[in-house]
Amino acid sequence: STLFDSVLRPTIIAAARSERIKQASQRWSTTEKVVRRFVPGESLDDVLTAIRRELDDGLAVTIDFLGEDTVDESHADATVAAYVALLQAMPRLAPVPPGSLEVSLKLTALGQRLPEHGAKIAEENARTIAEAARSAGASVTVDAEDHSTVDERLAVVRSLRRDFPDVGTVLQAYLRRTEDDCAEFAESGARIRLCKGAYAEPPSVAYPDRGQVDEAYLRCLRILMKGNGYPMVASHDPTMIEAASILAKEFDRAPDTWEHQMLYGIRSDEQRRLAAAGARVRVYIPYGTEWYGYFVRRLAEKPANLGFFLRALAG
Ligand code: FAD
Repeated sequence: STLFDSVLRPTIIAAARSERIKQASQRWSTTEKVVRRFVPGESLDDVLTAIRRELDDGLAVTIDFLGEDTVDESHADATVAAYVALLQAMPRLAPVPPGSLEVSLKLTALGQRLPEHGAKIAEENARTIAEAARSAGASVTVDAEDHSTVDERLAVVRSLRRDFPDVGTVLQAYLRRTEDDCAEFAESGARIRLCKGAYAEPPSVAYPDRGQVDEAYLRCLRILMKGNGYPMVASHDPTMIEAASILAKEFDRAPDTWEHQMLYGIRSDEQRRLAAAGARVRVYIPYGTEWYGYFVRRLAEKPANLGFFLRALAG
């Protein structure tokens, strides 16, 4: 695991930047089979079918229309249109328990990296999506990307929350700054998804070892559980899952004041087990054609996934 973290994980993430590898992967049909474990489909109908299945099993959902790092304004507009179409289709799922529907979005898919006024354009686009979400009875969470985007993202979220108080965001425990961010957002009553963090980051900004990240996660979780907000405990790690219940008890939190979150295709049985035991559980479901970056991060999280993928390619 140490070798994996220090050598393979950064290599996989770096290799992912190669256009040649990207194009080859997108052609291979074996890749598709492995991708399907994590991404239920490319179309709106595919994702509606997947949502239905999760809702029927007593789970809530958050939907990500895949895409990131857009440097083209019309591409950002197309992403907004896809979210609006998804949100307008959500009434077809009715009736659903309150709070079941959410969308997750990435500001870099909405234009944050455009050379001029990127953050402003991304905020306007997020606002359009937040309005469509409000009409659909859904909430919005702004995903966390690499560390260079955090300050702008948090500024956008603070601004959006003035008009849409239930817009939430993600804080990544591996970043050294995150305890302070947790304190701020817990105080302001925000919906905060706490995750470990999935990008390759330098030790100047992020804890380099897994043990340190786990300890930081637990410190952050305590701050969020103690605070006034709505903690969203995004982890598949049994230690974090158990700690969440213990801290919720310690701070007298009712089951509807926080939730577990896991990714589509990862520990699905555990998702169902927790929901059956009375916890709120939300599944993050990505869909669309731009699955590449998302897929590579899932491979980089677990050596066994990479092995599985390479065996599938060889076979
Ligand atoms: P780990 O210690 O990595 O994993 C614990 C156990 O979970 C593993 O032993 C394994 O059994 C299982 N597991 C974990 N990952 C995988 C996998 N890929 N394949 C198979 N099994 C696996 N990161 C961001 O940087 N920004 C975000 O906005 C963001 N949003 C997220 C939203 C949700 C709902 C979730 C669950 C995660 C999100 N992440 C995000 C990813 C997160 O940062 C971690 O990279 C990821 O969740 C793995 O960490 P873990 O806490 O599950 O623990």
